[in-house]
Amino acid sequence: MRIDDIRQRLAALGAKPVHVQRVLRAWAHALPLDAGAGRRGPALPQAVHEALPALAAELAGLARVHSEHPGEDGSARLLVQLADNQTVESVLLPRDGLCVSSQVGCAVGCKFCMTGRDGLLRQVGSAEIVAQVVLARARRPVKKVVFMGMGEPAHNIDNVLEAIQFLGTEGGIGHKNLVFSTVGDPRVFERLPQGPVKPALALSLHTTRADLRADLLPKAPPLSPDQLVAEAEAYARATGYPIQYQWTLIEGLNDTPEELDGIVRLLSGKYAIMNMIPYNAVPDLPYRRPAWDKAADIARQLHRRGILTKLRNSAGQDVDGGCGQLRARVIAGEAP
Ligand code: SF4
Repeated sequence: MRIDDIRQRLAALGAKPVHVQRVLRAWAHALPLDAGAGRRGPALPQAVHEALPALAAELAGLARVHSEHPGEDGSARLLVQLADNQTVESVLLPRDGLCVSSQVGCAVGCKFCMTGRDGLLRQVGSAEIVAQVVLARARRPVKKVVFMGMGEPAHNIDNVLEAIQFLGTEGGIGHKNLVFSTVGDPRVFERLPQGPVKPALALSLHTTRADLRADLLPKAPPLSPDQLVAEAEAYARATGYPIQYQWTLIEGLNDTPEELDGIVRLLSGKYAIMNMIPYNAVPDLPYRRPAWDKAADIARQLHRRGILTKLRNSAGQDVDGGCGQLRARVIAGEAP
């Protein structure tokens, strides 16, 4: 279901834009759909009022918490069951953040990622994306939404941009607190600057070497790291938000002195933050997590060389590893 479908259904029942906005705003904030009706502004038309219980049940059925897995760092990983029983992961992040999934599975096929192993199973609709936010808001405030869960948002760009537009208006989330995360796709650089709500951009770079990137991210669009940074920099200057470059740090692969030189060459003078996240090892995959001390040393070196670098643990990694691992374990019957 798309958010627009809900708008049209309410309009067909006689709701004016102000009514539609009120109902959708209540949904986005995890309130009863008739919250505020009759107190501020015109009362809802009778037909709309009568339809709300069924609509509320339908919206509640878009996404349900299958299981919840709190982490030690204040995060919690939610396995979310969609209406057709497919599952995706959402992560409640410290400081009122939420990481949502935009696809069931993913077609980019990054070699180090669990989600990419089964390919794309289906798109997540814009209403299902918002439903993940509503589930989280029923638990605690959400002031930031990052599209870094399962899937490549660029491969589901219409639904993701519709959800971003909604969350940045009725959803009450500041535009720079909506973070579109991508491996880099020409559609992203075309579409994001045109939208009325312009999200911040996170770009998964992982390496400065075009050959290694093509190997690690086999189905990412064939843009070189230089081209990606040039496109992203134009967006950063247009929006006034720095680009968040994501770098999954893998032992012996992209933690080398040559890569550090490459990062300095690519990002010096750019409006950029480098987020380094030590890899969460996945059973059966040959990639390893570097020692934290080594990762910290790399971040320090980059800082000294003028690159604003943050070293992060991926949230909830003590629960079940990185994105897609919890879902895989539940499907395999190893987790509740
Ligand atoms: Fe897809 Fe992201 Fe996994 Fe790559 S890392 S396969 S883009 S979900």
